[in-house]
Amino acid sequence: MEAAGICHSDLNALAGRSQPPGWPLIPGHEGLARVEKVGSDVSSVAPGDRVLFSFVASCRRCFWCIRGQDSLCICFRAQAVPKGTLAGGEPVFGHAGLGAFAEQALVDERALVPVSSQLDAAQLCLVSCAVTTGMSGVFNASGLQAGDTVAVIGLGGVGQAATRAAHLAGAGGIVVVDPVEARRNAALRLGATSAAASKDDAAECLRVMTGGRGADIALEAAGSKAAAADAYELTRRGGTIVILGAPPRTETPPWSLYSQMTDSKTVRGALYGGAVPRRDFARLVAFAESGRLDLDGMVGQRISLEEVSQGIAAMSHGAGRAVITF
Ligand SMILES: [Zn+2]
Ligand SMILES: [Zn+2]
Repeated sequence: MEAAGICHSDLNALAGRSQPPGWPLIPGHEGLARVEKVGSDVSSVAPGDRVLFSFVASCRRCFWCIRGQDSLCICFRAQAVPKGTLAGGEPVFGHAGLGAFAEQALVDERALVPVSSQLDAAQLCLVSCAVTTGMSGVFNASGLQAGDTVAVIGLGGVGQAATRAAHLAGAGGIVVVDPVEARRNAALRLGATSAAASKDDAAECLRVMTGGRGADIALEAAGSKAAAADAYELTRRGGTIVILGAPPRTETPPWSLYSQMTDSKTVRGALYGGAVPRRDFARLVAFAESGRLDLDGMVGQRISLEEVSQGIAAMSHGAGRAVITF
């Protein structure tokens, strides 16, 4: 491993809000590594390659992969395959079949994407999850057209990336919502035009900007029912809500079907932002290399593997994304 970011999906797994493949578990799915050795049947990566982890191991052949919906591929359940065993023979699992919070990882080649970039490891590693989810969510899933007014709810790594993508895609106005001031300030540096601490403040901003209509597009990037409800309310009639965050497994939609029909709002989920990792990682890295995406500003703190528990605790209390470097 070169670097591994701590993602809110890791926090969900550790807190029992999602269902990891089994315990004991090596958390971590946002990763950058250097290939050390490959098995005899491996053809898509070679020793020495720098690779980003993909938390979906796309087969590249099934119904979904052929249609460019690689993030929906379920042909290979990498997470069901143990990473190894403890001394007593008990199997150990990796989050999403990866297990990035470790000095070394045994990963299926379908979950690895080679990158030629020489960017700093902590920055580049963010492309593996947060940057791709947020930016692809805008580029691939939202249908954003230049001039659209966009709301981003939740400013963790995914929300920050979505804000930047909306700016790059030519959004006319970008209203971001998050209770943490430092996150709002970071989003303003990434291209947000207004920042609000609450949904009500955001609604007032949008009312002024759009003549009372509301946002054309709202991006839910907090993974919570409350954020989804805010995204729905802030969107204009006929607008689009994209669910990017991972909510707890049992959560149900907070809006009424009647209003969804009469207001004709489109609500769509976008796992991994609808990304095709083998296509999209490279184009997102290119934004960073050309200076149009400041990945360094998205790294909250750099920590060692030994400090992972403190990093998780800090992020649970609203700190920016912590990245383990090796
Ligand atoms: Zn993640
Ligand atoms: Zn497939």
